[in-house]
Amino acid sequence: MCNQHTNTTPTRVLSVAKAKAPFETTTIERRALRPDDVLIDIKFSGICHSDIHSAFDEWGGGMFPMVPGHEIAGVVEAVGSNVTKYAVGDHVGVGCFVDSCGECEYCLAGDEQYCTKGVVQTYNSLDYDGEQTYGGYSQKIVVKEGFVVRIPDALEMDVASPLLCAGITTYSPLKHWNVGPGKKVAIVGMGGLGHVAIQFAHAMGAEVTVLSRSTNKESEALSFGADHYFATSNEETFKELAGRFDVILNTVSANLDVDAYLSLLRIDGTLVNVGAPAEPDQYSVFSLIMGRRSIAGSLVGGIKETQEMLDFAAEHKIAPQIEVINASQVDEAYERVLKSDVRYRFVIDVATL
Ligand code: NAP
Ligand code: ZN
Repeated sequence: MCNQHTNTTPTRVLSVAKAKAPFETTTIERRALRPDDVLIDIKFSGICHSDIHSAFDEWGGGMFPMVPGHEIAGVVEAVGSNVTKYAVGDHVGVGCFVDSCGECEYCLAGDEQYCTKGVVQTYNSLDYDGEQTYGGYSQKIVVKEGFVVRIPDALEMDVASPLLCAGITTYSPLKHWNVGPGKKVAIVGMGGLGHVAIQFAHAMGAEVTVLSRSTNKESEALSFGADHYFATSNEETFKELAGRFDVILNTVSANLDVDAYLSLLRIDGTLVNVGAPAEPDQYSVFSLIMGRRSIAGSLVGGIKETQEMLDFAAEHKIAPQIEVINASQVDEAYERVLKSDVRYRFVIDVATL
């Protein structure tokens, strides 16, 4: 390890002082490298709708000042003395969490996100030393080697960054619920998560239907690999698609009419929620009982699976459609995400910070 990294690293970040405050540029110190740490020079950082839920404190428990960002792509700048997997210059990514206990049954199974001790999130979280974590809207970050993944050469770093959350959050449940040849899957909501989910489900061999509110995104949905597209604003859609799907992946950030979507499932079908509205959903148990149906949820994905997802994306030429913005445009980008005016992921060019 070179000497300059035995000290903390000053780092410019975009932070919000309190819920809904505008972003400002401030400086924090990243910790001095421990033997198993990697210092990453961040190049691109995606804007996930979870960043907005968090920075607006819609889910409660927000820690301020907050530096959001968990779709991080960058270059290794230095490594600790025990690091073996990465070397200076490697292209790497960091997703939604940066530590876990490593000992519980879920960590041992590669499902660190469900760690019984509590996973340490990339931001808005306390690490196991009690220090607040700060995320990827930042020039640099220090992360334990085991929570860093490799970005394949075939993926450009700006395009790769959204895969670190939007990618794994959709890849993991699609695999878990066996979406593949012979299966009919619906993707609800065509935003950051949804537009990547279409590409993964198509590459996995399933018959993919997109359910979006309007007809506006139809041609792009088909270009991402959708077989069918329906507007949910059209009441006929729910009649026409009744009992059709094995799996519905709901990526919507707001509450939906859950009973209406459950009616679209086959017997034994599953409605999988990854969208995370702040308010509770409502549904009738009869929507489940009458079709032996399930409602489920899924949280991002483990480190090993995140690497698998990146390699799968490279192999199948899966790429988020991004709009690269400057650091000064993040407030505006949040407003546009809230209006669903994003095609389909904003990515901050960290060089402008
Ligand atoms: P996004 O880019 O804003 O996309 C959400 C999409 O939902 C929109 O593009 C829109 O699609 C649809 N939508 C928005 N408001 C709606 C409304 N009122 N009624 C119906 N549909 C609506 O957000 P994202 O970054 O993909 O994130 C989506 C959700 O997933 C957020 O709640 C986020 O916090 C959550 N999330 C969860 C995990 C996890 O691990 N479970 C990980 C990441 C994100 P159409 O225009 O096509 O209708
Ligand atoms: Zn996210």
